[in-house]
Amino acid sequence: MTSLEKGGPALPQERKIVTEIPGPKSKEIEARRTKAVAQGVASGYPAYIVAAGGGILKDIDGNQIIDLAAGIAVTNVGNANENVVKRVTEQVEAFTHTCFMVNPYENYVELAEKLNQLTPGSFDKRTVLLNSGAEAVENAVKIARTYTKRNAVVVFDHAYHGRTNLTMAMTAKVAPYKHGFGPFAGEVYRAPMSYPFRDNDAAGTKLSGEDAAKRVITMIEKQVGADQVAAIVIEPIQGEGGFIVPAEGFLPTLVDYARENGIVFVADEVQAGFGRTGKMFASEWEGIEPDLVTTAKGIAGGLPLSAVTGRAEIMDAVGAGGLGGTYGGNPSAVAAALGAIESYENEGLLERASALGDIMRSRMEALQSKFPEVADVRGRGAMQACELVQRDSIEPNPNLAKAVAKHCADNAVLVLVTGTFGNVLRFLPPLTMSDELLNEAFDVLEEAFEKALS
Ligand SMILES: *Cc1c(COP(=O)(O)O)cnc(C)c1O
Repeated sequence: MTSLEKGGPALPQERKIVTEIPGPKSKEIEARRTKAVAQGVASGYPAYIVAAGGGILKDIDGNQIIDLAAGIAVTNVGNANENVVKRVTEQVEAFTHTCFMVNPYENYVELAEKLNQLTPGSFDKRTVLLNSGAEAVENAVKIARTYTKRNAVVVFDHAYHGRTNLTMAMTAKVAPYKHGFGPFAGEVYRAPMSYPFRDNDAAGTKLSGEDAAKRVITMIEKQVGADQVAAIVIEPIQGEGGFIVPAEGFLPTLVDYARENGIVFVADEVQAGFGRTGKMFASEWEGIEPDLVTTAKGIAGGLPLSAVTGRAEIMDAVGAGGLGGTYGGNPSAVAAALGAIESYENEGLLERASALGDIMRSRMEALQSKFPEVADVRGRGAMQACELVQRDSIEPNPNLAKAVAKHCADNAVLVLVTGTFGNVLRFLPPLTMSDELLNEAFDVLEEAFEKALS
């Protein structure tokens, strides 16, 4: 505990390298870790953190790292956000837990009201609070199955929905998420995703969103049967799959199809939601109104919380006692979410997401014009990525992604590698990062490309 320092917006907003990274103190803890922590939980960047805020992570050796991960799209409102800290402190001093299923408390109800109001669609809604993104997705499936009295769940190539048994089945990529962990839950069917960069027909024309949706519909009709499908579950922008933004028209066509066939349309907004893309929810970009929305990550400024929000008649298909959990909607996590939402609403964070996105776009396009390996630049708002390929082909280039991320890491810039082929660099700054810091991070990134490709 003694090594912790004060974080939040007061933390000086500068990149600083005082030792090699990880430094000696981090290495000492890392040595203890290998003897204490299961190796299955890996850390991409083993510098041990003592404070964070704005756009900076400070490690135990005094290095200050520019954060382009936000704890995987979680600390959108900034680490140790003042509203979050204030509300959580008040809450933990009052009481820490009762279990909402035993003794209820008001802030759970208040957050449900907020989520019902913030998620797309002005219809009557209900919310259930849970702990993790995976748990929210599981519950959305439970609810959809009860409501439709059907079993099948349709998911997509490159999808990521979590690490529990059902969500592993729903996740596309085998290593490291599923390998050796089967048997998996049944009645999960995988459909082709709209992936504009890689979706060319034989003549080289891009597949339209409508045609990509038709491909999905054919798969459902021929392999599953529309009247067997409880839910279509999709990330409106795929996260771990490589920040894949489907072609325009793909999502609305699927929503219409779901509605015509009594299928519950679930938007998994766990990563793309909560201001990340410059709108409160990524579904808003194409004006779709999902029947159910799953949220987590950016919801509570870093405390573990998730939710399923959706149409009242669907949510209320499950009888009393059918949903819940010991910690779901823990009062401290709920207090954090209410604090975070206060920041989203009052601190111009959606505008910041767009502004940060514009900077990232123009910096990536500059890289693209210099290095043909930067083949595709994509994303929305502060959820941006570039896909790297071998020169003169569209063969994935995971080694380049690794080399660039390594150079950035060595120079105190945290960049995450993602994508089915491990060849996508993704950028998820906290929305509290300054333009200056973001530009500095991209200076280092540019240096990394020059070094890797020279
Ligand atoms: C991270 C993620 C999940 C799983 O969330 P956990 O909190 O890690 O269980 C589910 N869906 C999407 C889209 C995600 O990005």
